[in-house]
Amino acid sequence: MAIANNRLSAEAYEQHFSDIHPPFENREAALVEANRCLFCYDAPCIKSCPTSINVPKFIKQIATDNVKGAAHTIFLSNIMGGGCSKVCPVEKLCEGACVYNLMHETPIHIAKLQRYATDKALEGQWQLFTRKPATGKKVAVIGAGPAGLSCAHVLSREGIDVTIYEKEAKGGGLMTYGIAAYKVTPAYCEAEVDYITSLGGIQILYNQELGRDITLAALQQTYDAVYIGIGVGIARQLEIPGETLAGVTDAIGFIYDIRSKGYPAVPVGDKVAVIGLGMTAIDAATQAKRLGAKEVTIIYRRTQEEMPCTTAELDLAKLDGCQVQWLAAPKEIKGQNGQVSQLLCDVMQLSAPDASGRRSPIPTGNTFTLEVDMVIKAAGQTPFEMLVQQEQLAHRHGRILINEHCATNIPGVFAGGDCVNGGKEVVDAVQAGKDGAAAILKFLSIQ
Ligand code: SF4
Repeated sequence: MAIANNRLSAEAYEQHFSDIHPPFENREAALVEANRCLFCYDAPCIKSCPTSINVPKFIKQIATDNVKGAAHTIFLSNIMGGGCSKVCPVEKLCEGACVYNLMHETPIHIAKLQRYATDKALEGQWQLFTRKPATGKKVAVIGAGPAGLSCAHVLSREGIDVTIYEKEAKGGGLMTYGIAAYKVTPAYCEAEVDYITSLGGIQILYNQELGRDITLAALQQTYDAVYIGIGVGIARQLEIPGETLAGVTDAIGFIYDIRSKGYPAVPVGDKVAVIGLGMTAIDAATQAKRLGAKEVTIIYRRTQEEMPCTTAELDLAKLDGCQVQWLAAPKEIKGQNGQVSQLLCDVMQLSAPDASGRRSPIPTGNTFTLEVDMVIKAAGQTPFEMLVQQEQLAHRHGRILINEHCATNIPGVFAGGDCVNGGKEVVDAVQAGKDGAAAILKFLSIQ
């Protein structure tokens, strides 16, 4: 067993990591699907979208060949509607709420229709918004992720000049650095950021990190308001022996490397264990397999009923050949010569439901051992607690505290997205950015 990079040919990498979303074969196919929509009154698909995209409206616009109008409808609610159509767990959101489910029929392919309109907008560089006259106001946004970009776009449309400070070399945040490349390709992420900033009035300064290159205090001197959308990013530790062995990594870092260094540069084991079963765990497991791992086993301490990922994501992992070990929890990572060689796991069982109805996993006393040479930890992320403390932001365990107006304890400083809620979907961060922008506009007496 060994960990190695450059396991595949250039063609194989290309094939394994190309976009998994097939577009409609042609315009007619999109129109046929759009015409299946019942254009429901009080449509549940709108209510289940965190950004409240007017789904029946944009589908009607596609059905009448008004693709530009459809793209405008989508982007008005969600400027990252293109990326979200690729990464949203739609079976839990819009498509899961579609009334066709009640009739036991296939729901409308809302995400595919959304991609149809937004892909055309990006390809055609359609500029669907204009900026209002300049207000003379300036706002700093920290973080060019979904919350920051969405906030910046709304503010710029209102005539505010926005400067985004981004610690990475590219924008997009989680979309660019934290999601499987075959779901949303690096090229698409770059195009999406360019599309958002093409409105004008938004400047992104890269390699600028809060606490290292910039401080809140300094930004407050220059700008009329500051919005913080720094996300979360520190991988949660397993707190078990063996975590420092060579071959133990975390899913965030693993996916980040795949996205930033290129596929051949990222080493992967022959036999990989992935701890956790959230979306990040699935992305790590499937990509480990696509990098050339021979066996990938996902370790999850509960059962399929409690799993945090969607069934579609689980199916994807299984299709890629990943195994799932249910009711198992890591107990110790064992090594030879400083390198991972085995993963010892507790066999778990679920307790009786507590007052809230939740059944907790408890060890049965039995264990089993997996022969592995790589362990990827995907047990969640924690916020940047030291950083927010250093910047004197009120917080709870690192999550920035805001009031109902998205305002932090520091006057003129607002926050939203994962750094506030601890980590949700991209689409939630986009809505948080919109909420933050609305609050800033009120604060600046512009709306
Ligand atoms: Fe169309 Fe389904 Fe939404 Fe109804 S619920 S408007 S059928 S997408």
